[in-house]
Amino acid sequence: AKRAGKAQWRRYQPSLHTPMLQQQQLRADLEQAIADEEFTLHFQPLVELGSGITLGMEALVRWQHPQRGMVPPDQFIPLAEETGLIVPLGLWVLEQGLAAAVTWRDLRPERPPYVSVNVSARQFRTTGFADEVMERLTAAGLPPSGLLLEITESMLLRDDEQAWTHLATLREHGIRVAIDDFGTGYSSLSYLRQVSVDVVKIDKSFVDGLGNENPHQNALVEGIVKLAQTLDLGVVAEGIEEPGDHAALHAMGCPYGQGYLFSRPLPGEDAERWFRENRAA
Ligand code: C2E
Ligand code: CA
Ligand code: CA
Ligand code: CA
Repeated sequence: AKRAGKAQWRRYQPSLHTPMLQQQQLRADLEQAIADEEFTLHFQPLVELGSGITLGMEALVRWQHPQRGMVPPDQFIPLAEETGLIVPLGLWVLEQGLAAAVTWRDLRPERPPYVSVNVSARQFRTTGFADEVMERLTAAGLPPSGLLLEITESMLLRDDEQAWTHLATLREHGIRVAIDDFGTGYSSLSYLRQVSVDVVKIDKSFVDGLGNENPHQNALVEGIVKLAQTLDLGVVAEGIEEPGDHAALHAMGCPYGQGYLFSRPLPGEDAERWFRENRAA
């Protein structure tokens, strides 16, 4: 038993040790990164599937680390949530996203694009969050239709008075709210009846392979689309990579989509070019 324990120790220790040190380092770097403004936003088009028109763009944060290069959000967002740094970072994302939307609206005033901003649970639980969003929106000179907020379902499953109040306040002001990654949490379809949001984003894990016509998968996604429409919600399918997935979604009446098929997330300048060029019209 002793031996086995030792062997285990030897096997596990190095692999545990390194990431932990790295995590601590990353955490320290993250704090500095906010001060040094090492973050940047990329923007991914949200497309009307029938017409191909880009209605808006989702802001996705990137960290350009001086030594490590581009650190993907999955590696630092959870850390930023843990440390609370997501609150200042989230406000920065909001401000930069709104500024981008102002530019796009000048480029395409006949159909003003909106910016979609991801909001973490931690931000939604912060006192005064709804007011801060409204302040930034007003300061940017954008109408509420210029902003959409993406939250995850788990956020509203918690019995959190503060989050629910923020949600209600923002929607009263006319800001639309989407449930992100729908289908990956614990909630059932009936959950959609209880929460008041405006848009459902079907997680990419359900979208991947739709073109292969797996009857169960297609029935499931079609069920979400139909129910959302019955409830007067917008539906966005995430992660559309294949023309076949696009066709299947269009055939089942899914109105909106997003994915590499249309575009990867674009640096700011390319997002502007996207609206300047014809394909965005
Ligand atoms: P998300 O909100 O679900 O964003 C969609 C992710 O899927 C993005 O990854 C996007 O680049 C990727 N994606 C888009 N189309 C496709 C596709 O066709 N195929 C595949 N395989 N992937 C696609 P990204 O940019 O790495 O972001 C990962 C996650 O990090 C986001 O997932 C979101 O949860 C979080 N995140 C990003 N920016 C922010 C932010 O500003 N604030 C907060 N709180 N979270 C953020
Ligand atoms: Ca999102
Ligand atoms: Ca998502
Ligand atoms: Ca996600």
